[in-house]
Amino acid sequence: MSALGLEVWRLRSIPGVAELYAAERRDDPTRRVEFIDALDPGIPRETKWVGMVSTQFGCCVGCAMCDAGERRFRGNVPAEDILEQVRRILAAHPETDPRTVKMFKLHFARMGEPTFNPGVLEAIATLAKGGALPGLVPSVSTVGPDCPVSVDFLEELRRLKDRWFRQGRFQLQFSVHTTDPVQRRALIPIRTWGLGRVGEFARRWVKAGDRKVTLNFVSSPDLVVDPAALARACRPEDCLVKLTPTHPTKRGARNGLVDDWTQAPERVLERARAFEAVGYKVIVNAPWPEETAGGVSCGQVAASVVKAAAPA
Ligand code: SF4
Repeated sequence: MSALGLEVWRLRSIPGVAELYAAERRDDPTRRVEFIDALDPGIPRETKWVGMVSTQFGCCVGCAMCDAGERRFRGNVPAEDILEQVRRILAAHPETDPRTVKMFKLHFARMGEPTFNPGVLEAIATLAKGGALPGLVPSVSTVGPDCPVSVDFLEELRRLKDRWFRQGRFQLQFSVHTTDPVQRRALIPIRTWGLGRVGEFARRWVKAGDRKVTLNFVSSPDLVVDPAALARACRPEDCLVKLTPTHPTKRGARNGLVDDWTQAPERVLERARAFEAVGYKVIVNAPWPEETAGGVSCGQVAASVVKAAAPA
């Protein structure tokens, strides 16, 4: 039992790639999260270390391709429990001094919509001020909820980035998936920012030396994608496009969305070329086969495993 209230256990280990952990609150075992300690295969930990933490107990959004929404939503993960996930990742490698790691990429993306949780801002600020992770590069992924809490969150995040994480040391990602608003609403069943609003925010977000804002698209073939329309709303000067497989979640399977690959098929490369043709930089994000098999390449693949592996 940790001093800060999380009981942690290892769910899976993929040597040299990732360790997948589950944790539950000591005071309420129904509040569970999962988090990941990973490497980019072939890159030493001292060069790049990757953490992926949960920001909510379950998720209240319920995206059509994601099993996090399957879990009963139990609220926001407090800042102290987010930091505890980070501490557990660091503590698993006493041989590595975090102060010497060139890049510690910390994804607030495993389970939950981070912009609903002000504790995420607190956790990022605490890590920035603490100075124990000079290579920290936070990465926040959001569906862009259209509500005051999320709008305030993103404005405050922008201030945090400008204060502590300039020169490419912060990554902001929006889940877009389709340029058709009706399809997008069906995939992400809450009110979200339209593309124009994402583009307007990206224009204010990106300052000289910053990373471009990432626009994420899962590759499910039936999703409508209009690169020219996207480019009109979100300038390629401010944004890049990332294409990923749609991982084999239970919910994705039920909704006919699964499109799993470790080498991009021609139709995905064609889509990439179409985005490039209107000026975008495109990243085709192919996971390693071990990642998909181990349920670590998508924050939600392991949700069912968490249930199965929970202590009696
Ligand atoms: S994709 Fe993200 S926002 Fe959507 S249900 Fe999963 S965790 Fe929640």
